[in-house]
Amino acid sequence: MAANGKILVFVDLPGGELDETGRGLLSWGGRLAGILDARWGTATLREPGVEPLTSLAAYGVPAVTVVAEGESLLDTPAHLGKTLARLAADERAAVTVLPHNDLGSTLAPVIAATLDAALLTEVVSVRRDGDALRLSRHALGVRVDETKVWDGSRPLVITVPVRNLSQVLMPTVRPSTPNLTLWHPVTKPEGATPRVSERIPPDPQTVDLMEAEVIFSAGKGCDQGTFDQLAELCRLLNVSFGVTRPVYDLGWTGFERMVGQTGRTVTPRLYLALGISGSMHHVGGIKDSRRIVSINSDAKAPIFANSDEGFVADLKEVLPRLLDRAKAAVGGTP
Ligand SMILES: Cc1cc2nc3c(=O)[nH]c(=O)nc-3n(C[C@H](O)[C@H](O)[C@H](O)COP(=O)(O)OP(=O)(O)OC[C@H]3O[C@@H](n4cnc5c(N)ncnc54)[C@H](O)[C@@H]3O)c2cc1C
Repeated sequence: MAANGKILVFVDLPGGELDETGRGLLSWGGRLAGILDARWGTATLREPGVEPLTSLAAYGVPAVTVVAEGESLLDTPAHLGKTLARLAADERAAVTVLPHNDLGSTLAPVIAATLDAALLTEVVSVRRDGDALRLSRHALGVRVDETKVWDGSRPLVITVPVRNLSQVLMPTVRPSTPNLTLWHPVTKPEGATPRVSERIPPDPQTVDLMEAEVIFSAGKGCDQGTFDQLAELCRLLNVSFGVTRPVYDLGWTGFERMVGQTGRTVTPRLYLALGISGSMHHVGGIKDSRRIVSINSDAKAPIFANSDEGFVADLKEVLPRLLDRAKAAVGGTP
């Protein structure tokens, strides 16, 4: 089909290791290459050691291109983006794949602009459709849900949300002996380029709930005492705090903490619903969470039908115990 070129998967190797995101991206890239019947390979900034190389082989990666002195380019993301664009052009990449994390979402637009390529962020699934590729994306916490068609007439740059990356190694993948190449970028950054001295991850206490990884949410089943305990638990465990509409109506939080149809649509790895009945207005905003766990004193509460795991319990008993366990775990006194 359209993929008149290679699939180039950008895998950062933090500390020289292949992390979960990297593994997930390799599964994704290999599958995309299969769908497009195209060659594929990986670009990295650091030379993989023996162990990561074995993992790359296990994921069937045929070619690994290491950007010479690539690690130093992390300080200058705009320059790194241009460098990766040059590499993609050198390798005749039809599709460049990056993770939708801080780094990937910064690099992708630079690469696309440099290559004059099409850019599609937060792609969650791909399907071949005759001579074209249909790509579905869920962006802004699934507020954007759309499908685009790529006909291969120009290069494509995509990012894949980290939560959609499964690192499961498919039994159909044939291990490879990766061909390792050291690639030298031809130019250096021009003039004085700003350097990144530190990367600060988002603070779960203040991050937009649509981007939150783990959310504990309070429903009307929380009284002021349990609500305060839950807020403390969230601070201790460094997870994000959400509420239902009746709790927001009490004036205990700002609107930005409200989850549901009128509030934030969330897609965390874990959504813990505490004292939440499970109305459709609330569930509509959480149903794409990877895992929903609920605690409710009413065994017939509708939230249980929408949960992966549910516990019938009284929050007044559970929360003090959870708080004690959390304090003990983080080194405080229960
Ligand atoms: C147009 C419209 C839009 C809306 N948008 C939203 C929205 O965006 N987000 C939203 O959340 N709601 C929204 N609502 C409101 C929604 O319909 C529900 O009223 C609301 O979600 C219910 O919140 P709740 O589960 O906290 O409260 P309740 O429905 O009152 O549930 C409280 C639950 O707590 C349990 N419980 C009580 N005590 C305890 C205890 N001690 N231990 C354990 N469990 C206990 C109860 O069994 C019960 O299931 C909207 C409504 C409308 C009409």
